[in-house]
Amino acid sequence: MSTAHLVVCGRCGQINRIPLDRPLRQARCGNCHEPLFGGQPIDVDETAFNRHAKHNSIPVLVDVWAPWCGPCRAMAPMFERAASVLEPDVRLIKLNSDAAPEVSARLGIRSIPTLLLMQSGRIVAQTSGAMSTDQIVGWTRSHLASRGNHDKPERIRP
Ligand code: ZN
Repeated sequence: MSTAHLVVCGRCGQINRIPLDRPLRQARCGNCHEPLFGGQPIDVDETAFNRHAKHNSIPVLVDVWAPWCGPCRAMAPMFERAASVLEPDVRLIKLNSDAAPEVSARLGIRSIPTLLLMQSGRIVAQTSGAMSTDQIVGWTRSHLASRGNHDKPERIRP
């Protein structure tokens, strides 16, 4: 079993190994020395999305949005507040679907905003529609709590 968390830096993309007995909240990136968790969602492009989805050992919550989408813009501050609640148990990232159409297609995104909860590169839960901070946090925690070892989450199709 793993003896360390793997956390991708939101600034430089470095994959950091943090021993399990070290507090994640205070951890800094070994490369750029920024705090790994700043209480803010990270804006990702296609490359950064793939890196975060694949290499974080902690769950990743993705907000798929677009600048022209009113409900997406309305949810942005809720998602931001959810980051300060859920970090460092969960990494929150924002994917602009207009800027990453290939990823959106691969993930099967049909409407936005869509929230994806991912673990080890796989989608473990997905929902659409704007949500409040409490709803985002509750939805995320309920899916993390209900995940047993026997789950076979859907694998992202290449
Ligand atoms: Zn860094």
